[in-house]
Amino acid sequence: MRKSHKLFAIFGDPVSHSISPLMHNYAMRGLGIDACYTRYRLEEGTKLAETFHQLRLSGVNVTVPHKEAAYHACDRVEGIANEIEAVNTIVLQEDKLVGYNTDAPGFLKSVLQMGHISSVCILGAGGTAKAIASAFKARKNSVTIINRSPNRLEWFEKRGYRCMTWETFKAGEHYDLLVNTTSAGLQEAMLPAPETIIFNLLRHTSYAIDVIYNKTTPFLQAAKEAGIPCKDGSEMLLYQGVIAFTHFFAHRYTEEEIEVFMKRAFV
Ligand code: NDP
Repeated sequence: MRKSHKLFAIFGDPVSHSISPLMHNYAMRGLGIDACYTRYRLEEGTKLAETFHQLRLSGVNVTVPHKEAAYHACDRVEGIANEIEAVNTIVLQEDKLVGYNTDAPGFLKSVLQMGHISSVCILGAGGTAKAIASAFKARKNSVTIINRSPNRLEWFEKRGYRCMTWETFKAGEHYDLLVNTTSAGLQEAMLPAPETIIFNLLRHTSYAIDVIYNKTTPFLQAAKEAGIPCKDGSEMLLYQGVIAFTHFFAHRYTEEEIEVFMKRAFV
């Protein structure tokens, strides 16, 4: 039996930088919910389920590097998380761990406000690229992946995505949306691909997004200078949190109600 005061957490390593506790606590307080959200540095992904139960949690968000481990730790996985094979939200339901991926719908919610999108080019082939690619594939949009090295493209090739490396890049094709999901620009001021590729892509896209948040990366700066409507990953972060919150509380609150309070973490 769990106490009525519910406890939630974010699991990751590192996790000290995460603003998820701020986002969720604002929403819990604002909506008058008797619950609290903390952070927990989880070093070993294999200990995820055990740690969840030991801490008597009601739900968690999972961040780098444990989203794949979270997928395997769940008793049941719902929706698009099955396609991505990665989970970022786990909820305790009747003593079972139920997993979801809210990065994918969170990204869609942030991007579909920009305009009509039916073709997407994704830079990078890591976990975030898998979530975003799966979200657009589910909408039957055309998705192209460009990655520095060929190894990580295998997952996408097996699932029928169009894939290119920097060497096999085809210039001059139009995409409605160009997304940077690489970590280039996070620590160092670098573009996610050679300049010739980036500038060619920017000449042929309607919108651009960098999933890195709270920062103007060289990629975002180049998109701005090219006059392309663009944004960083703050809204993706906000909406993955809003959607996770709807799962934590069994859809008792609407996304709009949650967003009002959660977005205060971004001011
Ligand atoms: P992964 O480690 O899974 O993947 C990283 C990808 O970036 C790989 O494809 C890698 O290519 C590529 N890459 C790394 N460095 C470079 C570089 N210097 N030049 C070109 N390509 C590079 O990372 P994630 O998918 O988990 O995360 C990626 C980014 O997304 C992070 O910056 C993270 O902060 C952000 N993020 C934002 C979220 C949000 O809510 N806004 C949510 C989740 C993540 P290769 O295969 O060749 O090594």
